[in-house]
Amino acid sequence: MKKRNLLITVIMAISMLVLAACGGKEPAAGEASQSKDKEKLQVITTYSVIYDIVKNVGGDRLDVHSLAPIGSDPHQYDPLPDDVKKTTDADIVFYNGLNLETGDGWFEKMIETAGKTGENAPVFKVSEGVKPMYLKSGGHEGEEDPHAWLDVENGIIYTENVKKALIQVDPEHKETYEKNADAYIEQLKKLHDSVQQKMNELPKEKRILVSSEGAFKYFSNAYGFDAYYIWEINSHDEGTPEQLKSIIEIIRSHDVKALFVETSVDSRSMETVSAETGVSIAGTIFTDSLGKPGEDGDTYIKMVEWNADVIYNGLKSK
Ligand SMILES: [Zn+2]
Repeated sequence: MKKRNLLITVIMAISMLVLAACGGKEPAAGEASQSKDKEKLQVITTYSVIYDIVKNVGGDRLDVHSLAPIGSDPHQYDPLPDDVKKTTDADIVFYNGLNLETGDGWFEKMIETAGKTGENAPVFKVSEGVKPMYLKSGGHEGEEDPHAWLDVENGIIYTENVKKALIQVDPEHKETYEKNADAYIEQLKKLHDSVQQKMNELPKEKRILVSSEGAFKYFSNAYGFDAYYIWEINSHDEGTPEQLKSIIEIIRSHDVKALFVETSVDSRSMETVSAETGVSIAGTIFTDSLGKPGEDGDTYIKMVEWNADVIYNGLKSK
């Protein structure tokens, strides 16, 4: 065989292999852009707060899909078929842990279905290393409280964990992840200081925070509040008559100036409490979800700033 013929044969053989890999047809326009996205790391997060932190560390390197949609409750979520498919295809999965994604075992079931279990599965808990706080009531005594991100110093721990995980899975882009994480952590440090400063301007006796879910343990610990709630953690029992009775008694026996309601819960329970006690709802705050893109609180930093403003304004003048 002449050299030229051999070359042609080799080229044809390679083309056949490439075609076979593509399913034997030319990629259509849509598929071409999809395969371009495949160059990006496919990332799953369980809810929007982690989504934003991951985006800040990974930037354009990542294609991120958040499971629980904005405004919904990540404690309990019903994954859609598309969520399961995306999780199956994912290079990396981030979840909060600390008993957040445990309602009806939805997350555990899902990573099992998606084949992402076992020691080497690329599934990372972003709260690794956070000092847990614990639930105290409602049959949940001794379980971990998940809402660590509401203390920005824990948000910094989350960011460090995200950075480490991305470097582990995609070491080629270590420098990018480090640079992005450092810049973001700088912003978070400033945020933590400014929230602390602002809250310190409120006299201690005014720093009483009443919300629907008891999501503010870590926040209260970091920024010097006493926190009360209607129910301690989102579950199937939200706003039962006993819970309402108990918070109404607390409000009557403490000097509560204002009530707050979260974007990701049903506000009717807090409205009942407000009507019963005559204490008004001072505003809406973000706990388990960011705001919609383009609206208030649509990033982790903005949600924390928003909460600090609403809480400060709600309590300062009363
Ligand atoms: Zn919650």
